[in-house]
Amino acid sequence: MFEMIKLPYSADALKPYMSDKTFEFHYGKHYKTYVDTLNKLVEGTKFSQMSLEEIIRQTHGQDEYKAIFNNAGQAWNHQFFWQSMSPNGGKPKGKLLEKIIAQYGDYEKFKQELKNAAVTQFGSGWAWVVDNEGVLQILKTANADTPVSLGLKPIICIDVWEHAYYFDYQNRRADYVEAFLEHLANWQE
Ligand code: MN
Repeated sequence: MFEMIKLPYSADALKPYMSDKTFEFHYGKHYKTYVDTLNKLVEGTKFSQMSLEEIIRQTHGQDEYKAIFNNAGQAWNHQFFWQSMSPNGGKPKGKLLEKIIAQYGDYEKFKQELKNAAVTQFGSGWAWVVDNEGVLQILKTANADTPVSLGLKPIICIDVWEHAYYFDYQNRRADYVEAFLEHLANWQE
C-alpha cells in the first residue's frame, strides 16, 4: 500500500503565501485521492509490488495503464512538491546558485525563465528544474506528466494546477509563482 507522506511543516506554516485552507483541500483531498485511487487500481496487479518510480516508468505513454500512470504520477509529483517548499524558502544559495549563474548569467534570468514556464503551462500541470546529467534544465509538464518518466532528476517543482493556488490567488497564477519563488522555494532540500 502506498501511503501519503507527512507534510514536512504544519499546514499553517507557509502563510500568508499558502494558506491552511489550501492544504486542507490540496493535501487532505486532492493528494489523498491520488494515493487512495492508486492503491485501488494496483491492488492484485503486478504494479502492487513496485515503487512509484517503477510504476511511472512502466505505465508512461500506455493507453491501457493511463489511470494508473495518472495517479502514480500525481502521487509522486505531490510528494515532491510538499518537499519543494519550506517556511524558510526563497532564493538558492551556495553551489546551486553558482551553477545557475554559470549557466544562465544571473539568478534573475533563471527565475524569469522558470516563472515563464510555470505561467505559460496551458491548463493543469507542473513547472520543474531538473538535473539532466549535470546540466540544469527548466521544463513544464501537463497534467500528471513527470520528469521521472524521462529519466531526469528533479530538483524542485511548482504545482500549477488551479487547486494549488485558487483559494489564495484566484486566477493570478503569476502572483502565486512569484510568491513561491520569493518565499517558499526549498532549494536546500
Ligand atoms: Mn496539486
